[in-house]
Amino acid sequence: MTASELDLALVPKDALGICNRLRERGKRAWIVGGCVRDLLLGRAVSDWDVCTDALPDELLRAFPKAIPTGVEHGTVTVVVNKVHYEVTTLRGEEGYSDGRRPDQVFFVEDLVRDLARRDFTVNAIALDPTTGHVEDPFDGRGDLERKLLKAVGVAEERFSEDGLRVLRAARFVATLELDLDEATARAIRPTLSTYEKVSSERIRDEWVKTMKAARPSRAFEVMREHGLLEVTCPEMLEGVGMVQNKWHAFDVWGHAMACLDASRGDAVLRLSALLHDVGKPRTREFNDAKGDYTFYNHEEVGANMLGPVLERLRFSNDERARIVHLVRHHLICFAPDWSDAAVRRWVKRVTPERLEDLYALNDADIRGKGRPVDDELENARVLKARVAAVLAAGATLSTRELKVNGRDLMTELAIQPGPVLGKLLDALLEQVINDPAQNERELLLRAARELVAKGL
Ligand code: ATP
Ligand code: MG
Repeated sequence: MTASELDLALVPKDALGICNRLRERGKRAWIVGGCVRDLLLGRAVSDWDVCTDALPDELLRAFPKAIPTGVEHGTVTVVVNKVHYEVTTLRGEEGYSDGRRPDQVFFVEDLVRDLARRDFTVNAIALDPTTGHVEDPFDGRGDLERKLLKAVGVAEERFSEDGLRVLRAARFVATLELDLDEATARAIRPTLSTYEKVSSERIRDEWVKTMKAARPSRAFEVMREHGLLEVTCPEMLEGVGMVQNKWHAFDVWGHAMACLDASRGDAVLRLSALLHDVGKPRTREFNDAKGDYTFYNHEEVGANMLGPVLERLRFSNDERARIVHLVRHHLICFAPDWSDAAVRRWVKRVTPERLEDLYALNDADIRGKGRPVDDELENARVLKARVAAVLAAGATLSTRELKVNGRDLMTELAIQPGPVLGKLLDALLEQVINDPAQNERELLLRAARELVAKGL
């Protein structure tokens, strides 16, 4: 192996098999794009792509069972041992009048022309599956060594062809831990009108993929600096440069970034970390007595802002509900002198199902303050232990677990179905949360009678 070769043992046999079948038919084929880049970086490869000079109809003859994914653009999907391989005819592209897809693709013989239509030099590398030779006409490997993400050709032209590329740039800066090449970075702002045409679904998908990075903030810093967030989520910019209080080392934006990077969990959890303080700028007030800023109710204001933001970005109802709930409850004011009843009340409010999420968000929130936080982490540990203890003791947290139900109340107290019944059950639950010994049928009926007598 020389410096311009890669070890073919790293490529799945089935991917090499696809290339071989094409060679047997007198065609050429290469492993290409992101997978070669990831091999060179020593990273796990998620999907393998093949490019070939075989035309689409030849491809379908060579692989009769292939799925014609985008056969008019030359792409078919070959499934081997349940793994999907995208096989694409070498092509050029022309005219991007809608800023999303080429008006026309044409098939070419020349590998270099195909690589030239790709977005970044690090993504424009091909691997010859017979020799292990790396075809790298745009010096993508050099850029990987220099840790640079650089557009193929003239960046401004490439970005005005397809608005998604600037967002992919931000994502790759984070996931591949590269820096944006200067000329490539400069080309983003002048092409934002093309970025504006990118669909919300694709933006959401890129954001979600970004969350796999060790430090997703790298992508969001690119989006802030070069204007993408102005288009997609101006709400997040309200906190840029906004000083917080003495508890924080960072401005509101900087804290969101630190919290995002410190968060551990799936993409939705990390999005909650990114957005948890979005309500702060709209609630900041200077408190003379404290001599500091306050952000009263920012969690509620933020939760209310996020519903529409997340809808705009086409997150599902479940994802939206989870993020909004986490943001609404992220401020945890626990102190060790809380009574067990207070702990139970808190668990009921945040719901037991969301506890793990909230712990994870709280941990990120604490670590994202940029100052020593051992005492706060200890406090969070104590809360967790206290919650575990009240749950282990079998805390009653919903009206369904009360020893009386609506029917009992209707027959025993002769009340009619209606909202009063629900209110009564809620009031009884409140009493049981305060004192679990109250969860006995007779005690609850007596309490219910008293409540009704008081006019509830
Ligand atoms: P990942 O799979 O990690 O998201 P990738 O670079 O493999 O990254 P894919 O979407 O799988 O991205 O695309 C495969 C290849 O197709 C890329 O490496 C690149 O060469 C090319 N490509 C994808 N999207 C674009 C685009 N919008 N503009 C130009 N080339 C693109
Ligand atoms: Mg890929």
